[in-house]
Amino acid sequence: MDLHKLYLSEQLEGIKSGKFSSTELTTHYLERISKFDEDLNSFITVTEDQAIAKAKKSDERYKNNTNLPLDGLPIAHKDIFCTKDVLTTCGSKMLSNFEAPYSSTVFEKLDNEGMVMLGKTNMDEFAMGSSNETSYFGPVKNPWNTEYVPGGSSGGSASCVSAELAPVATATDTGGSIRQPASLCGLTGIKPTYGRVSRYGMIAFASSLDQGGVVARSAADAALILEAMCGHDPKDSTSLNLERPDLTTNLNNPIKGMKIGLPKEFFEKEMPSYVEKSIEDAISIYKDLGAEIVEVSLPNINLSLPIYYIIAPAECSANLSRYDGVRYGYRCEDPKDIEDLYMRTREEGFGNEVKRRILIGTYALSAGYYDAYYLKAQKCRQLVANDFKEVFKNIDVLLSPTTPGTSFKAGEKTNDPIAMYLQDIFTIPANLAGLPGLSIPCGENAGLPLGLQLVGNSLEEDKLLQFAHSYQLNTDWHSKMPDIS
Ligand code: GLN
Repeated sequence: MDLHKLYLSEQLEGIKSGKFSSTELTTHYLERISKFDEDLNSFITVTEDQAIAKAKKSDERYKNNTNLPLDGLPIAHKDIFCTKDVLTTCGSKMLSNFEAPYSSTVFEKLDNEGMVMLGKTNMDEFAMGSSNETSYFGPVKNPWNTEYVPGGSSGGSASCVSAELAPVATATDTGGSIRQPASLCGLTGIKPTYGRVSRYGMIAFASSLDQGGVVARSAADAALILEAMCGHDPKDSTSLNLERPDLTTNLNNPIKGMKIGLPKEFFEKEMPSYVEKSIEDAISIYKDLGAEIVEVSLPNINLSLPIYYIIAPAECSANLSRYDGVRYGYRCEDPKDIEDLYMRTREEGFGNEVKRRILIGTYALSAGYYDAYYLKAQKCRQLVANDFKEVFKNIDVLLSPTTPGTSFKAGEKTNDPIAMYLQDIFTIPANLAGLPGLSIPCGENAGLPLGLQLVGNSLEEDKLLQFAHSYQLNTDWHSKMPDIS
C-alpha cells in the first residue's frame, strides 16, 4: 500500500483500526528516506533506530489501549529544535558536533502525544536564507525539479514532506521560512501568532520574530499538528499565557459572509502573469464560496523589508555572540590565546551569510548608529503593526501571493543578497506584526508550484485554517505531488 499517500488523519485511523502498525508506517518512511534522500539532502540526521523503537512502543500502547492522541504518526523536525542526545546543528559548522543536553518544548509536546521522530531536517545556517543554499551540510533540492531550490530556511522540512519522505515536519519562520518554502514546494505551511508556540530549545535567530510552526500536505494535517504544538510554556518568557487552541473543530465551517482584504500595495507590484492569474483564480473560488472581497491599504507595508534587515541582523548579532568556542560547539584547533580562540572559532565556524548578518547587526547596534538604525527600525515596525490593526477592524483575512514567483534555479541568486531578500517581500510583514500567516498551493508554472498567502488577525489561526481548508475542499492543488519514485 502507498502509505505515504494517506493524509495524517487517515494514517491515524489506519493505525487505530489495526490496518497497519506504527512500525510499518515508520519503516515505510525510513525506506523512502534511504531511497530518495541522497539526492534531495533534506535530512541532516536520520534517527532510524530510535524511530523504530518509538514506533514499537506506540504499537504496544495501542495493544494495551493506552494510546496517546497522535500515537505512532511519524514526523521530521527542523534541525533548529533541540533534541536530547541527538545531533542538533542548526545547519552550521558551529554546532556540527552539538548533541543537545535537553529537548525543545516543541519536540517534547509532540513526543508526549506519541509522535515518532524520523530525523532532523536540513536548513539554512541559523535559519538565514531563502533557498537552503547556506547550510554547512550542503544545499537541499526541490523535489519538483532538482535543479531548483526548495526555498528556505526550512527547506529540508519542505523538501522531505513534498517528496513524501515524512508526512509532516516542524519548521520555523522569522521572515517567511515556513511560508516561502511551502510555496516553492507545493505545501501548506503555517506560522502562528508570535508567542503561540514555545521558543524554548528552538535555537534563536531573531528572538522577537522567530516562531515555530509546521509544513504539511493539507490545512487539516497542519491544524492537527499545530494544535498540539501550541500552549503556554513557563520556560519561554514570550510564550502567551493561553490554553492550547482548538484548531480542528471549526475547520469545516463555511466562510460565507466573511471578508477577505487585498492589500493594494502588494497588488501594485509587478507580478509575472501566471502569479496574477493564479491569485485571480483563487479569489474567484473564495467569491463562489460566499466571501466578500475588499481592497485595503497598509500604507507603511513597503517599509517592511528594510525594517526587517535592521532588526533581524541586530538580534542575531546578539544571539550568536554565545558561540565563542568556550562552552559548546565548534572550537578552532590550537588557539594561541583567548582572543585567537574567539576570532578563529567564529571565523571558521560561521558561513558567509551568517557573518554578513552579524556585521550588519553589530553596526546597527553600535553606539553611534543605534538611534539612527535600530531605534528607527523599531518605530517603523510599530507603524506596520498599526496598519494591520486598522485593517483587521473590517476584514477577516488578508490575501496575497506568498512569493513573487515559483522556485528559482540553485545558484541563481546566491551572489545577489538583495534579490534573495526580496523573496520574502510578502511574508516579512506578518512577522514584524507578530501575526499568523499561512501558505497554500494555488497554482503552478512550468511544473513548479506556487503559493497563496493568507494572513490573519492575532490569535486567529483557526480562521486562517478554516479559509485554507475550505479552499482545499474545492480545489486539488494541494493534492498534486512531485513524481520522485
Ligand atoms: N529569508 C529570511 C532571512 O533570511 C527569513 C528567514 C526565516 O524566516 N528564518 O532572514
